[in-house]
Amino acid sequence: MQHAKCISLHPACIAPEQLVTQSLQSEPVAEIIAIGDELASGQRLDTNSQWLSQQLGDIGIRVHFHTTVVDELEDIQDAIDHARDRAAIVITSGGLGPTADDLTRQAIASVAGVPLELHEPSWQHIQHLFASRNRTMTENNRVQAMLPKNANVIFNELGTAPGIDIVLSATNTICRLFALPGVPYELKLMWDEYVLPQLQEQFGEPGIIVHHSIHCFGAGESEIQSRLPDLIDRGRTPGVGITASKATITLRISAHADSADDCRKLITPVAQRIRDELGDLVFGENGQTLDQVVVSQLAERQQKLAVVDMGGCSLVAQWLHSADAQGEVYVGTISLAVPRDFDKALELARQAFDVDLVLIIGPGFDHQGHAKRDVMISANDRRVRHRFPIAGHPSLVIQRSVKQALNFLRLSIERGKL
Ligand code: AMP
Ligand code: MG
Repeated sequence: MQHAKCISLHPACIAPEQLVTQSLQSEPVAEIIAIGDELASGQRLDTNSQWLSQQLGDIGIRVHFHTTVVDELEDIQDAIDHARDRAAIVITSGGLGPTADDLTRQAIASVAGVPLELHEPSWQHIQHLFASRNRTMTENNRVQAMLPKNANVIFNELGTAPGIDIVLSATNTICRLFALPGVPYELKLMWDEYVLPQLQEQFGEPGIIVHHSIHCFGAGESEIQSRLPDLIDRGRTPGVGITASKATITLRISAHADSADDCRKLITPVAQRIRDELGDLVFGENGQTLDQVVVSQLAERQQKLAVVDMGGCSLVAQWLHSADAQGEVYVGTISLAVPRDFDKALELARQAFDVDLVLIIGPGFDHQGHAKRDVMISANDRRVRHRFPIAGHPSLVIQRSVKQALNFLRLSIERGKL
């Protein structure tokens, strides 16, 4: 991979040649700091950090830390101080507004050991924006044009808060910090127009990080890990991580290489090994859901599906409906609040719909002290039936049951039982 070109930057305390030396040393690692009381308190979701991490991954830069910090000067200084020692690139978002709780400028200046100075072009831009929007400007707006001495200013075309580009010295190295406003559309434009080209110029082409995910259903995280013991080891290339969400287990393969094609070359054998090892526990890849998989299986067979739902709380109807926007496969669901026996449920579905398959999701019931749910699929002359245990947190039970039913349908088709 190619690294480091000379950059034209006027850092507060570091000579540009030091920057180049540093970026040549090793793969750059980034850190993101999201600033705002509303984020730390959970009132607002920090979407900027997610977006910034994806953008950095697209140019091959790994993010090792996300920090969320309140609008308190000391805490912001502390977060920046820690970040500069462990990352070559720090991106902050938020806290650049004109009010008393916007303290990012002061925090950066104090960590850099430089004063804030009026940046005349930014001040002109702020006054121009107020005039063009016919709004009265108060004196505190001037504070947005007060920027750390010698920092580069990032023009904010869409708002009044300019961003900051500054180089900070750190214990063993140096770090380049970009401070962007919190408003997502302002941050994104400033990233595209300024930060991204600057990083490409400084770090050359550190490549690209490509993620590939493989989704499994029907076994727990630890069972899946035990079938792939060496793959999940830390420090492997490409790396494989495992996450569980709502009874779906996802293996994420992350490759870092010069190009997307090179990443795919690294990913392909690992993905194949996972598929071979896990067999039909694997139902999809890269965001596919069980309902989408079932819909495409049936579309390929040109078959129609109806559902009788006695315990899915309409979730199965929602999922299938959105997976089959054209109505090619899924024709509808009969929801029964009062459960009927399966023969009666099937008769109701056959009366209402002219379909090839009927999926019946039974109610949960206690069977010798254990909750169980029966699922039946009827396809013309064939019937398959399975009893699943109902387990897990109450908030998950319905989702898990619907996934079990759809997965049973998927496997019954794959194994030639229907
Ligand atoms: P600020 O730049 O701190 O004045 O924030 C301006 C607006 O952007 C507020 O509405 C914030 O809630 C929003 N905002 C700030 N940080 C983030 C973030 N990390 N993710 C999403 N929105 C944010
Ligand atoms: Mg704020």
